Amino acid sequence: MPEDKTWSKQQERQEQEQAIAETLSHIENKLIVMSGKGGVGKSTVAANLAEALAMQGYRVGLMDVDLHGPSIFKLLGLEGQLLTHDDQYIFPITGPVGVKVVSMAGLTAEKDVAIIWRGPRKIGAIRQFIADVKWGELDYLVIDAPPGTGDEPLTVAQTVNGAKAIIVTTPQQLAVIDIRRSITFCKQVEMPVVGIIENMSGFTCPHCGKATEVFKVGGGKETAESMDVRFLGAIPLDAEVVANSDQGKAYLCGYSEAAKSFGEIVSRIIEEETPKRDVKKEKNNKQSETRGQRNKEKKMKIAVPVNDGKLSEHFGHCEKFAIIEVENGEVKQQELLAPPPHEPGLLPRWLKEQGAGVIIAGGMGRRAQDLFTENGIKVIFGASQENGLDDLVRNYLEGKLETGDNICDH
Ligand code: ADP
Repeated sequence: MPEDKTWSKQQERQEQEQAIAETLSHIENKLIVMSGKGGVGKSTVAANLAEALAMQGYRVGLMDVDLHGPSIFKLLGLEGQLLTHDDQYIFPITGPVGVKVVSMAGLTAEKDVAIIWRGPRKIGAIRQFIADVKWGELDYLVIDAPPGTGDEPLTVAQTVNGAKAIIVTTPQQLAVIDIRRSITFCKQVEMPVVGIIENMSGFTCPHCGKATEVFKVGGGKETAESMDVRFLGAIPLDAEVVANSDQGKAYLCGYSEAAKSFGEIVSRIIEEETPKRDVKKEKNNKQSETRGQRNKEKKMKIAVPVNDGKLSEHFGHCEKFAIIEVENGEVKQQELLAPPPHEPGLLPRWLKEQGAGVIIAGGMGRRAQDLFTENGIKVIFGASQENGLDDLVRNYLEGKLETGDNICDH
C-alpha cells in the first residue's frame, strides 16, 4: 500500500511538471522580480514593468505569487476581483493596457492568503498556481515573487524554468552582503540576473528640484558592477508613486523624475531581453495598412438617385442614377445611368457592379438599407432635395452633409 501511495505521488508530481512545462512553453521571456526583504518597491516595479512592456506593444502577463503581501491587484486597480477557472485552468484578468494579471489574492475572498496555505502546502500552492494559469502566447511574463531568499522564492525560481531575475533593493540595503546574498541565491538556482534596481534612491523636491539623499546611499552601482551584475538604474522616492499606487494607476504614465528613471530602466531590460517579435515593425506595418486603406477610400464612387437633375425622393423610382467618381476628395467624373427595373435586390447588385461604395438618398426602407450594406455599399439617407448634386457630394466629402429624417421609411 505505501508503495502505491508513493507511486501516485510521483505520478501527480510528473503530471504537474508536464503542466508547468506546457504553460511555460508559450512564454518567451520570464522575469522574476525579487528583493531581499519586503517594502522596497518590488511589487511597484513588477506592476510598472509589466505595464511599460505592454505599452510598447508586447504581450505581457503579470503573476503575483507573493503570498504574504499580494498587492498587484491593488496596484492595478483590480482589488476585490476573483479569478475565474474551469476544471483545468485558471484564467487571468485583463488589466490596464492589456496586461494579463493573476494574483494569489484573486483565488479567495479571504484577506490573508498566507494563512490559507500553511507550511509545506504553500510550496505546493505556488507550484500548482504556476502550472494552472492559461496565459496563451506571451512575450514577457513578469513575476512578483515572495521577498527574501527562503523556500517560497526558491520554489518560484526552481519552478519557472528559464527565468531571469531582476533584483530590487533600496539604498540602505545596498550593503555588499545584501547584494551578495541575492546574487548567491540566483547562482544556486542557476538563474541569470538581468540586473539590480535601486528604488527609493534619493528624493527630488517637486517644488525646488533639489535632490536629497534620504537613506545613506551604499554605492549600489559599484557593488553590483564589481560582482559582474548590471546596475539597471535608480528610481528616486516620489510622492506621486504612492498616490498613484493607492489609486491603482501606474506611475510611469506621469512626467516625474521617477517615471523618467523607470523609463530608462525598462529600455535597458528590453535591450537585454528582447523577444523575437519586432513590435516596432508590426506597428509600422499596421500604420501603413491603415494609411493604405484610407488612401483606397479616397478613390470611390458615390451613387445618387436623381429626377430632373435633383436628388430623387424615392430612390426606387428615380429616372437615373448619378455615379460620381471621386479621388482624394475631388470629383473626377460624373455619369448618369438608367437603372434596371425596380425589383427587390436588383438595384444594390447593379450599383455594386458600377463600383459604387456609397449611396446618398433621401429616403430608404430598412430592408433596402440592409441590402445595400450586404453589397458593401454605405448608405447615407435623409439627405435634403434642396441642395444640388454638387453640393450634396462636396458636403458629404467634407463631412458636413446634414441629414434629416428618413423621408421614406417603408
Ligand atoms: P514590496 O513589493 O517590496 O513590498 P511595494 O511595491 O508594495 O513594496 O511598495 C511599498 C510602498 O512603497 C508602497 O506604498 C509604494 O507605493 C511605495 N513606493 C514604492 N516605490 C516608491 C518610490 N520610488 N517612491 C515612493 N514610494 C514608493
